[in-house]
Amino acid sequence: MKWEENVRKVTPYVAGEQPKQSNVIKLNTNECPYPPSPAAGEAAKQTDYERLRLYPDMNAEKLVNALAEYYHVKPSQVFAGVGSDDVLALAFMTFFNGEKPVLFPDITYSFYDVWAEVFRIPYRTCPLDENFRIKKEDYFAPNGGIVIPNPNAPTGVFEDIGMFEEIIAANPGSVVIVDEAYVDFGGRSVLPLLEKYENLMVVQTFSKSRALAGLRVGYAIANEKLIGYLKDVKFSFNSYTMNMPAIEMGTAAVLDDAYFKETVGKIVKTREWTKAELSRLGFSFADSMSNFLFVTHKQVPAGRIFAALKENGIYVRHWNRPRIDNYLRITIGTDEQMRALVAFLEKYLQEENND
Ligand SMILES: *Cc1c(COP(=O)(O)O)cnc(C)c1O
Repeated sequence: MKWEENVRKVTPYVAGEQPKQSNVIKLNTNECPYPPSPAAGEAAKQTDYERLRLYPDMNAEKLVNALAEYYHVKPSQVFAGVGSDDVLALAFMTFFNGEKPVLFPDITYSFYDVWAEVFRIPYRTCPLDENFRIKKEDYFAPNGGIVIPNPNAPTGVFEDIGMFEEIIAANPGSVVIVDEAYVDFGGRSVLPLLEKYENLMVVQTFSKSRALAGLRVGYAIANEKLIGYLKDVKFSFNSYTMNMPAIEMGTAAVLDDAYFKETVGKIVKTREWTKAELSRLGFSFADSMSNFLFVTHKQVPAGRIFAALKENGIYVRHWNRPRIDNYLRITIGTDEQMRALVAFLEKYLQEENND
């Protein structure tokens, strides 16, 4: 078809499955197994639905102020968006606008290359070493921007902020985005570096540690100049991205710090238990500081285990991609869910061994 010559053709991002059945154990998209803060539920109930005839606050000021206070930065240093995917996509569009390639790891969040393609941003991937660690020297090369998650996904590996400081300091001519979607599960944020470096942008989300993936709230924190450029692009695109209930519920969730810490604490405890159990069953993995484990088994191929788990109603994630096709990414669920996973694997692996 002639008109097809003018179409922007892209290969879209593939998210983990959202199964229709409710009786599955869903450990495939890194959601929180616990409900969001009850305060967020209260805020939803108190939102006056008649007010929905009006446009929302395009600056999401209430939420931005709550985040600024929580992280001890100025409101002008905070940008809120519709999940961190929205924030990251806008940041790619805003800051990765040069001729030189944007750099990110070869094994990482699989949305980065999709955004680079859709916005026609040149990019180059930097291979992780054999232990899935970042080689910082790779990021000392000329580039048009850098984006790295910490902890990385889907490996769960956390890199010390000293390494990030070296990368940021070596690249005063580019914006460095640190995607901290999983930082609350035991890592350390690079936020303190904001005082020293104006080319750093930190992106976080409510989807994992705050149990609000369905609400779609994410945010960026940077110096106010970067945030200003990000806002200019957002207001050139869609001013009213954050809806009223999301602003109200998101704000309530930030204020309920006790619930947040309790939830994260439970997940970290369950993760450590799961690590010990999976080691016992012959799995190995890089040490994870996130709410998931990236595991490989010494005998049974990951693809086979993935299929067996799915057949038995346990959903995890598996990619048919170079270097990681013998790995499974398993989200940390409740204790009960992880006990069911371990019990199934124990039985399954025994049967595999006897064959
Ligand atoms: C989950 C995730 C995100 C985006 O999550 P949102 O739900 O859009 O906030 C961003 N980066 C990484 C590395 C993630 O794993």
